[in-house]
Amino acid sequence: MHEQNLIRLKKLSKIINIGDDELELLANHKRVSYQELDVGGTIYPAWRILHNEALGPGKGGIRFHPQVSEDEVKSLSFWMSLKNSLVGLPYGGGKGGIKFNPKEMSDRELEKISRAYARAFSDHLGQDKDIPAPDVYTNAQVMSWMLDEYEKQVGHHEPGMITGKPLELGGCSLRPTATADGGFIVFEQIVKDYNLDKSKLKIAVQGFGNAGYFAAKNLHDNGYKVVAVSDSRGGVFDENGLDVEALKLKKDELGSVVNSKIGEVISNKEILELDVDVLFLAALENQITEKNAKSIKAQYIIELANGPIDEIADEILFDRSVVVVPDILANAGGVTVSYFEWAQNKTGQILDREYLSQKLFSIMVSAWKNVYEFSLEKKISLRMSAYAIAVKRIIKAEKYRGNIKKAALV
Ligand code: NAD
Repeated sequence: MHEQNLIRLKKLSKIINIGDDELELLANHKRVSYQELDVGGTIYPAWRILHNEALGPGKGGIRFHPQVSEDEVKSLSFWMSLKNSLVGLPYGGGKGGIKFNPKEMSDRELEKISRAYARAFSDHLGQDKDIPAPDVYTNAQVMSWMLDEYEKQVGHHEPGMITGKPLELGGCSLRPTATADGGFIVFEQIVKDYNLDKSKLKIAVQGFGNAGYFAAKNLHDNGYKVVAVSDSRGGVFDENGLDVEALKLKKDELGSVVNSKIGEVISNKEILELDVDVLFLAALENQITEKNAKSIKAQYIIELANGPIDEIADEILFDRSVVVVPDILANAGGVTVSYFEWAQNKTGQILDREYLSQKLFSIMVSAWKNVYEFSLEKKISLRMSAYAIAVKRIIKAEKYRGNIKKAALV
């Protein structure tokens, strides 16, 4: 998977003038840590990977999933570096994961595994080293266990070592909805900049977890028509629009939207290929590939998930003039609010919710404008534009640090 990032970097080097030494610096990870967590005699493979720290300490979530691999965590940490850079945060990129199926675990087992992770990687974590957050199948409770275990290891309180915490442990009230909120802010800029008629848009949302559910809710609450949503077991469709809140209640009760008896049940393949105008991707990587890119009917795709479109599919969609808002922009609201949380923890200050909402709005809108305008100027995709802006900032920081001798940037 990280191979695809290298291909994108190569392409980028032709758009902005970056040399081989800069390319190499971005292609490689600063630290790859692997540990086998022994919890009650079962071994859980676990990673914490720091891609780059030129702009500040590493920052990025921890994923619990059976498909977690070193290659995946490498990709995710690379994207975190670019994302943090793109939205102007004082962070490098990090990411972590444990390879197991959390759905098969009791809360007690999840707690033990979370604590084992925090113990195993405590040397590499810290508010000024590398700061985790929630990702797929991790949440505020997991962050709490990890914080507690880390603080036991280091012998002092340090809430800024992890974000996405509950309010009682120093969390930020904006955090649960932040990823979806950021994506929605960008989406509304698209509606404006592409002159879309809001009342006519049909929207599908793949994934119904933290990112997907709150995205669907935002859309629904703001008068957009969400005609399909899905989770890992499949999706539901109603061309007249779905009641997102009713679906959420049914999912909580029955485990999946497919059991809700709301709308018509469709497969995960079908939701991607529906005749809709907008597709929000909020599940996992590599959902749109060479195999289905030509069958996608949506004209606008918002990548709330990380890496849901692979490199070949990207080219196919670009050639078909499909507008893809890349992950490093579309889902940057999550890490932006994590930054607010971290800053509050470090300074001990409490910032007003209204002020932070405004700040999130202005950061997302300004990132969108930069990416959109540069893409028009260079006639490149929004992804290449976002990568260019992000990479330039990292390279400049590396140059100031003296890690690159010359950086000939356009
Ligand atoms: P989550 O664990 O809350 O939810 C994941 C959702 O995806 C679940 O509804 C699950 O059923 C669904 N899913 C899993 N496999 C699927 C499949 N094959 N098809 C359809 N749905 C499937 O996770 P999340 O935090 O919402 O993360 C989703 C994506 O958003 C990930 O790519 C993650 O890296 C990205 N992201 C999340 C955040 C955040 O703050 N949570 C921030 C940035 C990016």
